[in-house]
Amino acid sequence: MNTAGAAPIVEARSVQKHFGPNHVLKGIDLTIERGQVLCLLGPSGSGKSTFLRCINHLEKIDGGRIYVDGELMGYTERGGRAREMKPREVSAQRRGIGMVFQRFNLFPHLTALGNIIEAPVGVAKKRPSEARARGMQLLEQVGLGDRADAYPSQLSGGQQQRVAIARALAMDPKLMLFDEPTSALDPELVGDVLNVMRDLAQTGMTMIVVTHEIGFAREAADKVAFMDDGQIVESGTPDQVINNPQHARTTSFLKSVL
Ligand code: ADP
Ligand code: MG
Repeated sequence: MNTAGAAPIVEARSVQKHFGPNHVLKGIDLTIERGQVLCLLGPSGSGKSTFLRCINHLEKIDGGRIYVDGELMGYTERGGRAREMKPREVSAQRRGIGMVFQRFNLFPHLTALGNIIEAPVGVAKKRPSEARARGMQLLEQVGLGDRADAYPSQLSGGQQQRVAIARALAMDPKLMLFDEPTSALDPELVGDVLNVMRDLAQTGMTMIVVTHEIGFAREAADKVAFMDDGQIVESGTPDQVINNPQHARTTSFLKSVL
């Protein structure tokens, strides 16, 4: 596909966020092109989750702008002025963005397939038969084609997380956000989830992945950004940021996780 000249999928410009007196995002500038995988690294409390939540407008920003696929998130621009969107408009915008959390948050009373088709049928008003067929494809994609009827309690953490990924994909997002998707998993279950994410990257999905899995970032990322204290300290290719960091803060963080 020729995407020359296309708008970046995500463009953050001077994004500011406070929680009361706590200045959490101090002017974030970041661009992600279509089909790119960005890995966002940084110590706990540096603002990574907040930034992801601002991208899909789960948090409102206090300054700057965030564009997703050329559209300003959460605001309507007219004559250079921005008006806050109505909740319904925000929900519609958010539907184009899939999010996977550290905790899988599956509905416990629904099967794997039930979890996946819930939003396509309930929100996007897809025909149940169509949603089920697509849901089965997605379960195959995440290696769980044989577990469609299992309830979350009958699945391992890694399997639940793969269902959560399939559930996010079921809404055909143009962007996937992952917030430490493997941090809550037993070490032996991490690999399967990372493999699913690698395969997803290969399909051309645009992804932002907050992770401490440096190996994954090194192999799968097109771009790595290191965040500390509400700022992007440095960004570049995995080779630049992970193998040849320019800042002492990056070096000491990498030492702590490698
Ligand atoms: P990270 O994901 O990098 O660990 P977070 O974005 O979760 O960092 O947190 C950044 C800072 O914002 C922390 O100081 C945290 O306590 C604060 N924070 C995050 N969410 C909230 C919230 N909903 N209300 C108040 N403070 C918050
Ligand atoms: Mg976090």
